[in-house]
Amino acid sequence: MAKRLFVSPEYPVASAGDQLDYPVHRIFCVGRNYADHAAEMGVEVDREAPFYFIKDAQCLVPSGATTPYPPGTENYHYEMELVIAIGSPVFRATAEQAQAAIWGYSCGLDMTRRDLQLAARAKQRPWDLGKNFEESAVIARLAPAAEVGLIGPQRIWLTVNGKVKQDAHLSDLVWSPVELVQHLSRYYHLAPGDLIYTGTPAGVGAVVSGDQLRGGIDGLPDVELTVGPAE
Ligand code: MN
Repeated sequence: MAKRLFVSPEYPVASAGDQLDYPVHRIFCVGRNYADHAAEMGVEVDREAPFYFIKDAQCLVPSGATTPYPPGTENYHYEMELVIAIGSPVFRATAEQAQAAIWGYSCGLDMTRRDLQLAARAKQRPWDLGKNFEESAVIARLAPAAEVGLIGPQRIWLTVNGKVKQDAHLSDLVWSPVELVQHLSRYYHLAPGDLIYTGTPAGVGAVVSGDQLRGGIDGLPDVELTVGPAE
C-alpha cells in the first residue's frame, strides 16, 4: 500500500489557518516507560532518565490499515501507546513550555519484531531491525491536548480479536508527557511534526496473520490494525 506521511487530525494544528494535516517529521519512541512492562521484559525501569529509539517517518501507517506480516521475524508483537504530537518549536523546555508545546495526543501502536529486538539487545546492538521497519508505527487521529485534559486517569488498553491483552492507566507512566518533552528538548530542537510514542504497558504479545488489533485510551479515537499475510 502507499506510504503515507500525513496524519489527519480532527482539528488544525495551528490555531490560524485551515491546515488539516499534520506532516510528520520524526518519530521518537520511549523505551520501558511502564514498570510492569519492563518487568515482563526481564529488565528494570531506569529512573534516572528516559531512553529513546527512533522510527523513520516512513514507518507511519494510518489506523484501520491492513499491513503484511513483516519479513524477517517469527515473533511479531503489538505495543499499545499514547502518542504525543508536538505543535510548536521547543528547546530546553521548562515544564510550562513543554506543556504548551504539546499540540495533542493520539493512540498508536509500536509494532515490533521482538525476536530481532531481543537478539540485538543481547548483543548490545541497536534495536533498528526490531523496531524501525516499514509500517511499524500505526497512528490514529490526533486529538487536541486541551480536549484531552490532564494525563493520568485515562485507561489505556488493547484487544486482539476482541480479547483484552493490555489494560493499564496513563498514571502508570514512569515519565509523563511533560517530562518526556522536557527531557527530549535538551537534545533536540523539537518542532511541529515530531511525534513521541511514550511506551507500552504490560501485556505485550505476538500476533499472527488474520489478527485484528484495537487499542484505546479514554478520550481519544481508537487505533486499529489488521495483520495481513506475509509477502
Ligand atoms: Mn514501544
